[in-house]
Amino acid sequence: MNNKISEILFKIAARKRNPSLFSKYEELKAQEKLSREELLKYQEEQLKLFLQFCYEKSDFYKNYFDKHDFSPYDSNFIESYNKLPELYKSDLLANNEAIHTRIGVNTKPAVTSGTSGQALKFDRSESWDSINRASVMRGYSWHDVNVWERNGYFWGYNLQSSDAKKIWLLDFLQNRKRLFRFNKKDIQDFSHTIKKASYVGGYSSMIYQVAKTSNELGINFKNIKMVKGTSETILPYYQDEVKKAFGRKMISEYGATETGLIAFECEEGSLHVNMENIYLEVNENSDVVVTNFASDTFPIVKYNIGDMATLSFDICKCGKEHVLISELIGRKGKNIVGKSEEYPGFTFYYIFKNILVKYNTKLNYKAVQNVKGTVEMFIELPEEDEKVREMIEEQRSSYFKDDVIFHYTFLSHFSAEKKKTQSFESNL
Ligand SMILES: [Zn+2]
Repeated sequence: MNNKISEILFKIAARKRNPSLFSKYEELKAQEKLSREELLKYQEEQLKLFLQFCYEKSDFYKNYFDKHDFSPYDSNFIESYNKLPELYKSDLLANNEAIHTRIGVNTKPAVTSGTSGQALKFDRSESWDSINRASVMRGYSWHDVNVWERNGYFWGYNLQSSDAKKIWLLDFLQNRKRLFRFNKKDIQDFSHTIKKASYVGGYSSMIYQVAKTSNELGINFKNIKMVKGTSETILPYYQDEVKKAFGRKMISEYGATETGLIAFECEEGSLHVNMENIYLEVNENSDVVVTNFASDTFPIVKYNIGDMATLSFDICKCGKEHVLISELIGRKGKNIVGKSEEYPGFTFYYIFKNILVKYNTKLNYKAVQNVKGTVEMFIELPEEDEKVREMIEEQRSSYFKDDVIFHYTFLSHFSAEKKKTQSFESNL
């Protein structure tokens, strides 16, 4: 579809479904010019108002704040707020009804993907949905992209034919071409379909697969202004192939259904926290804890999302002065189980980061544990490489000694699994 027609269709649909979308967007575009100090001040004011709202409208939060002796009306509320115990997905599931505010606005049901445990269902207001969409649109604007421009979406998914029709219509309305399968023929056909696309997106491992296959086929994607990876950690290993195929690195959009957009990577490669709508904390274990001011119908407060990250208070070169996420480590996930001890799943992240720093070697890996004390380690390389094995073994023994051993498999191509994948999977 022509971008002009697509823009008109998008705006008609938005006016109906998200009437406040464009005003929220304009507001955000104005706020991104604020100084760090002004942003922090605005954020604290919004946090206070939102917590007062939660206290007045949500039975659950009234009890929770009272129980922990927290008052959102105190002048120094922020100090006691920082000490308030965190909430987890299990709390949102167990107290679902009491958390809802029932403030008499129109809502639509929302549901989390449930890839990491039980799906969470809640009612989302138009304003919440619009603020989230506007935040994403603002992120796109940093890359000179309008959301309605022609785009490609890489997503493996087995569709029932009734779903396929619905998705086809959705894709058509969003000027989106979708790649379902990742074999050479499909990628080749797809590259013609999206020749005029201005952005592509999808799970980062799938973007990588498409880039790698395209490079092997000698296909280049021109005109691409943004390559956006979601839902998974972007491994440094991915970027070389992505740059070669698309002419630019993959950027990261970080958020979840219940939290809304948490951070978006700017044109200078920094992940800017969506401070206008989010109060973001990183606790002493590097866990990400989110309060989402837009979540008026189902307040998300002090929510430990199960990801790990580190923050940076440097000011980005791009001139927007949001606080930054300096490192997105990814899902906390399951533990690695040794013969006698357990280790955090993100240990693999550090093993491969150390190898990158020490040997300047980027590796694509996938670790799978089926048996206590043993990890199946898959490395994407055309053939066995003794040096690589030694690098990994050196790291393995420094973290696990002999408590965990690795079995190595070298593969020239990881199959792009037709679901969201994590770099560590435990079947224990
Ligand atoms: Zn920036």
